[in-house]
Amino acid sequence: MNTDVLIIGAGIIGAACAEALAARGVQVTIVEQDAIGSGATAAGMGHLVVMDDNAAELALSSYSLALWREFVGAAPARHEYSRCGTIWVAADDEEMDAARAKGDILRANGIDCTLLNAVALYEREPALRPGLAGGLLVSGDGLVYPPKSARLLLERAMANGTQLVMGKVASLLHDGVTTAGVLLADGRELRADTVVLACGSRSAALVPELPVQPKKGHVAITDRYPGFIRHQLVELGYIKSAHAASGDSVAFNLQPRPTGQILIGSSRQFGTEDLAVEPAMMARMLRHAASFTPALAGLNLLRCWTGMRAASPDGLPLIGPHPARPGLWLATGHEGLGITTSLATAHLLASQLLNDRPAIAAEPYLPARFTALANHGGVQ
Ligand SMILES: Cc1cc2nc3c(=O)[nH]c(=O)nc-3n(C[C@H](O)[C@H](O)[C@H](O)COP(=O)(O)OP(=O)(O)OC[C@H]3O[C@@H](n4cnc5c(N)ncnc54)[C@H](O)[C@@H]3O)c2cc1C
Repeated sequence: MNTDVLIIGAGIIGAACAEALAARGVQVTIVEQDAIGSGATAAGMGHLVVMDDNAAELALSSYSLALWREFVGAAPARHEYSRCGTIWVAADDEEMDAARAKGDILRANGIDCTLLNAVALYEREPALRPGLAGGLLVSGDGLVYPPKSARLLLERAMANGTQLVMGKVASLLHDGVTTAGVLLADGRELRADTVVLACGSRSAALVPELPVQPKKGHVAITDRYPGFIRHQLVELGYIKSAHAASGDSVAFNLQPRPTGQILIGSSRQFGTEDLAVEPAMMARMLRHAASFTPALAGLNLLRCWTGMRAASPDGLPLIGPHPARPGLWLATGHEGLGITTSLATAHLLASQLLNDRPAIAAEPYLPARFTALANHGGVQ
């Protein structure tokens, strides 16, 4: 089989890339070893959130949020979309200063947000524990059910001629100096002019020099309690724990699903690829969540699970050509923001591949920023 672009991995990133490329007339084949959207995409919380730890993250997430609102607009229920908004909860005066500073940055970038004092916070979210200082409401944020969105993206790609191949990619194929396709574990060879690696936390299994490592996260979901909370609630302290480069941490992150269920996140752990739920880590995460919303402790938990984020050293994804392997492109390393940034990733990748002008600058996300890739010896 010959194809213009072959994408490895049908998580939200691979599916979004297939959709964007197929919509521009590219002949795409996408290879998936498991169910569509079953990796980190199924494990994640699906919070569509503008993040502003640095200018590049803000540019990518806010551009992607705009694309999401357009994408879900026609059929929000099919994505289980809700424009719930995010409240960044400030525990004390110091975090209130952080909320104010965050609000200034977001407003300067055209993002609607409102500073909430304590009274305004409790009016909106009475289940929060007493004594909090306030928060910042970002009203354009929302949520989706990611595996459904991944399937919808792939459906659109397939309607534009994308072929789905079920199989595990065992290795990349090389043709002299360029990547020329993939070899599947069952012996099939798929040839392509361009290969896009979109394997999430498994990316380094095929391209070992990638500076991407798994970061495990626990999540739990309750029975239905409509109205328990109304916005996605995230502690401002989350930012510190989310970007720690080592060590285990938990952060308060609570989501009101459209079903009335409460999705509880999340933990961060390095140095393990074992997806087993760890009772001690789960207990720590739940205790921390209940310290913000005490009545949570009385709700029934239905299920808990884990997933692996693909973490890059600088917290930004790798989107663009591998600097030392012609024909190989990367769309990976999205860490805890890959649902949000999937659509912008796909547009950036398609613009680069087709030599269009991208809507935002591509440079901050180029894989060439990592010397481990730039200095790699090429095809091996
Ligand atoms: C606990 C947790 C909470 C999160 N919460 C959020 C959130 O609220 N908001 C947000 O924006 N992001 C969130 N994320 C991050 C988000 O889920 C990921 O960034 C995103 O799903 C990554 O998508 P992906 O397509 O790169 O990876 P994946 O979804 O893992 O997809 C990769 C695919 O590649 C396939 N694959 C791998 N190797 C091969 C191979 N050799 N051959 C064939 N197929 C292969 C896999 O089977 C898989 O389907 C969260 C992540 C976790 C773990």
